[in-house]
Amino acid sequence: MFDRKKYMAEYRFKNRVRMNAYAREHRRENPEMYRRHERSRAQYQRGWKWGLRLKAFAALGDKCVRCGYDDPRAFQFNHKNGDGWKDVSSANGHYRMLKDIIAGKRSDIELTCANCNMIHARENNLFRIRENDMGEIRVN
Ligand SMILES: [Zn+2]
Repeated sequence: MFDRKKYMAEYRFKNRVRMNAYAREHRRENPEMYRRHERSRAQYQRGWKWGLRLKAFAALGDKCVRCGYDDPRAFQFNHKNGDGWKDVSSANGHYRMLKDIIAGKRSDIELTCANCNMIHARENNLFRIRENDMGEIRVN
């Protein structure tokens, strides 16, 4: 059967030089159109991401497990084992983490406010220099 998705992917790949040149020219000739587009896309992504965070907060009880603080603007995900760097150092790691929290699959994460999260990290000496699986040095 004709696979339109595959056909279009191949078409775009084969004609990428011509299509990129056309897109560049279009962008140069219509800058206003693209500025508007970029802005609205960024806004859309921010809103979408925040919505996902709010769902993850709700899945974890919507308040700080340590002090009961309940303003979502200052919520942070506390990795009980101090391995939060794993979730933020890989591509899509943060998104996957949020999805897993919403699905109830992350018992190693609790909801804390920014203060309690920082206190937890200091108490457990989690500020160490580590190497992630890409070989990059990170300070966690
Ligand atoms: Zn707190």
